[in-house]
Amino acid sequence: MKLYNSLTRTREEFRTHEPGKCRMYTCGPTVYHYAHIGNLRSYIMEDVLEKYLRYTGLDVTRCMNITDVGHLTSDADTGEDKMLKGARREHKTVMEIAKFYTDAFFADCRKLNIKIPEIVVPATSYIDKFIHMIEVLLEKDYAYLSGGNVYFDTSKLENYYVFGNQEAEDLAVGVREGVEADEAKRNKTDFVLWFTKSKFEDQELKWDSPWGVGYPGWHIECSAISLWNLGEYLDLHCGGIDNAFPHHTNEIAQSEAYLGHPWCPQWFHVLHLNTSAGKMSKSSGEFLTVSLLEEKGYDPLVYRLFCLGSHYRKSLVFSWEGMDSTKTAYQKLVGRIAALSPEDGPIDEEAFAALRARFAEAMDNDLNTALAVTALYDVLKAKTDDATKRALIADFDRVLSLGLLEAAEKVRIAQKAVADAAKAASDAAGEAGLVVTCLTEGVDPAAAAEVEALIRERADAKKAKDFAAADAIRDRLAAMGVTLKDAKGAVSWEMK
Ligand SMILES: [Zn+2]
Repeated sequence: MKLYNSLTRTREEFRTHEPGKCRMYTCGPTVYHYAHIGNLRSYIMEDVLEKYLRYTGLDVTRCMNITDVGHLTSDADTGEDKMLKGARREHKTVMEIAKFYTDAFFADCRKLNIKIPEIVVPATSYIDKFIHMIEVLLEKDYAYLSGGNVYFDTSKLENYYVFGNQEAEDLAVGVREGVEADEAKRNKTDFVLWFTKSKFEDQELKWDSPWGVGYPGWHIECSAISLWNLGEYLDLHCGGIDNAFPHHTNEIAQSEAYLGHPWCPQWFHVLHLNTSAGKMSKSSGEFLTVSLLEEKGYDPLVYRLFCLGSHYRKSLVFSWEGMDSTKTAYQKLVGRIAALSPEDGPIDEEAFAALRARFAEAMDNDLNTALAVTALYDVLKAKTDDATKRALIADFDRVLSLGLLEAAEKVRIAQKAVADAAKAASDAAGEAGLVVTCLTEGVDPAAAAEVEALIRERADAKKAKDFAAADAIRDRLAAMGVTLKDAKGAVSWEMK
């Protein structure tokens, strides 16, 4: 498989340190609010990547952190503490906020058919590991104490700006408003590993450390959680493009300084989801969540298909019109799958292999999901039997996770229910529609009921074109002294 590597800025053959195994790390959410669908785009594309790596036979172990402490919006200790901000907004404790939004994030993942990584680590459960790592960095002289905080010394590295651009950063610092220079830092790119002095004196969660009571910086989380769970050689690190600098740059700095050797050779970054007004964020414009999509009548899997329809390395513009056309496309696709015969049968191996190769070719080409979705339509158009088509759709959907066969089954059940209801209604109308009238007065009610039942039986027999039975009933009625007068939808009778 060829995959674009942000580290080398080229498309490369995907390789792993240990053949057959892949250790994959994903930066998890900061759980202070619902995830917006822009962030979820990254998780969808990472999910597709993970599932495709498994599809090709790799044994993937994936780990993700949950940022449930700190996470300043700026590294200069000047931004807002997101967790604390969430807690204040909702009058809850930081831990209550973390629990609530962690659950909400996983609920969104389930709705979007995003597989939850096998290893999920909340940052607050790893404080001792962060402290250990910082101690080693201090010992190795990559870190220093200043003004009560522990900082990473970026000047100790030969190449710090892995994902950043030094010139652009120099310019940006000059123009960024409201950013006070942190006087305690030796270099402007140095970052905090452990805070004991912060403008957030009322930080709720604090731990004892060799440097005083405080809390960890954000970047140290991912390095420590990855190293402890996936070992010294990571194969693939994923995240949204906005994490590339400084977060991922700082992760590399800390991890490699700690290990003393290169850490992760392949980096996968997903571009932004934009609105027509620009980059989507929690603070700007309409706050787009999975729940909002559902309220507006979109199955979350329609959003998944919307994301798969474009390449992960291109920014994607969200619009309701785009969602509408994707919804129509999804329904049509499901409808066509529902029309396939549900019977299992022998697989046309030749057709199966040829169509599967088309799907794999698309995915091997830097995860071209749009072309992989087109391969689904190729299956539906192919000159092969329905059992083979269904097997191929099931096979592709192990990666695409659009719930296609499940949705088609629901359509089939609904169509059958409609057909059954229509049949029952017409049957009921047939029975009730036959008006039976007795023209003789004073007939015993029991005898009248028996006659009426026989008349209806005769009508059913006629409807079933069993004319012999219908005639036999007429003869029986005649023997009882009953004469019949047939009209359209009605029978009247007299008894001698
Ligand atoms: Zn991270």
